[in-house]
Amino acid sequence: MSDLIFSDSFINGEFYQTSSRFSVDDPATEQSIVDVSDIDEQGVKNAITAAQGAFVKLKSTNATERSDTLMRWYDLVIKHKQTLATLMTKEQGKPLKESLGEIDYGAGFIKWFAEEAKRSYGDVIPATDNSHRLTSFKQPIGVVAGITPWNFPVAMVTRKVAPAYAAGCSFILKPSEHTPLCAIALAYLADQAGFVKGAFNVLVSQDAKKVGKMLTDSEVVRKFTFTGSTGVGKQLLSQCASTIKRTSMELGGNAPFIIFDNADIDDAIDGLMAAKFRNSGQACVAANRIFIQRNILNDVLEKITPKVAALKVANGFDENADIGPLIYPKAKEKVQQLIKDALDKGATLIGDNSNLGGSFQNPLIVTNVTTQMDIYHEEVFGPVLTVIPFDEESEVLALANDVPYGLAAYFYSQNIKQIYRISEGLEFGMVGVNEGVISNPVAPFGGVKQSGLGREGGHQGLDEYLEEKYVCIKL
Ligand code: ADP
Repeated sequence: MSDLIFSDSFINGEFYQTSSRFSVDDPATEQSIVDVSDIDEQGVKNAITAAQGAFVKLKSTNATERSDTLMRWYDLVIKHKQTLATLMTKEQGKPLKESLGEIDYGAGFIKWFAEEAKRSYGDVIPATDNSHRLTSFKQPIGVVAGITPWNFPVAMVTRKVAPAYAAGCSFILKPSEHTPLCAIALAYLADQAGFVKGAFNVLVSQDAKKVGKMLTDSEVVRKFTFTGSTGVGKQLLSQCASTIKRTSMELGGNAPFIIFDNADIDDAIDGLMAAKFRNSGQACVAANRIFIQRNILNDVLEKITPKVAALKVANGFDENADIGPLIYPKAKEKVQQLIKDALDKGATLIGDNSNLGGSFQNPLIVTNVTTQMDIYHEEVFGPVLTVIPFDEESEVLALANDVPYGLAAYFYSQNIKQIYRISEGLEFGMVGVNEGVISNPVAPFGGVKQSGLGREGGHQGLDEYLEEKYVCIKL
């Protein structure tokens, strides 16, 4: 298929069709792209059996073979970059230039873990007497199940499946019902690259709760990895408790973005534009609470207002588009509710909030935001920049940390002592200093507090799929 659009689940290296179907829609046109099969119970069972069989076969592969296979997958993803990016803009809405960027970023995880596959070293431990030899080595956990969201339909998949395969684990993926097409295309390309049959299965479903429960209840599934909202993450974690699965959870954030008065303001504005408006603000690491030191507030607002107004809202296929549609109309409704609550409680709006129709939302600035407002506490997940003035460093650090989340944080400062103080003081898993875009396959991505458990990317990302076995030999 030259357009890589497939409409069925992918199990054991084959497409699995059901009669019950649902539509995957283009969020820009609200037209159906294709009707996809809704997986049935038998399909989920088949996927678990296939993954179990694949794990046995994977045990007889070695790290170099798996690395080579992953490199072939990487090459195919890059070869089909334009097609995959087109598919992504169709089903997810983001501007095509961002989709192309995500294919590179997502493929980067495949390449990184192809390299890391060869580096799952163990330890030789000095014994405490002369008659024993102590070692520990790493082995794949087994069958992994994962659930991914719609905001990064390729990268969220590759950063789970690539390390799993590198480690020697088989995978059952349930992608978001809004963006299953990229996931199926990735599984098809993995199969073409020579993945062991059944090592990467994709279950397309509208009933996430039911499929999720079948996967969390299964004793065959030994590890569960999830990216999505904190509420669903908590539910899945508790479901995983019944079989004591290993878990990785990449959950919600409420990222602070702090601009201190000694910052390079132009640099800070560039960083903020990227940290806020990429993917129309629909990222768990998107800047959510913008703290600006009061003595530079007017200067920053004066400079950033025309930049925000200049962002072009359009169908992602429009070559000048900066902001595509939000994922579905309800997402826009939520953004509008947050704006209304903030304005009712005394915030000020800068920008044009007229209804653009469909799921399109103009980028806006909301200033004078306070801790009384919902927009302060919830992820906006839309192109709205919320500004909170502050006076003192200690005040802003306390405010930044005073949320249940701890995923990403950003700040701009040119004072080296302040850079250390704030980097160390922020209770977040990732911190960008004078940088608004920090995600990178080579670095550990993940959160603290209610933003999650575990890390994806970096050398840490491979360990999430490995168990450490200690072997004590008496001579
Ligand atoms: P978002 O708001 O980004 O869609 P969700 O956490 O609702 O975040 O969705 C992320 C993923 O979790 C999607 O694939 C969705 O289908 C899935 N999901 C939603 N609810 C459940 C649930 N109760 N059990 C399992 N998966 C779920």
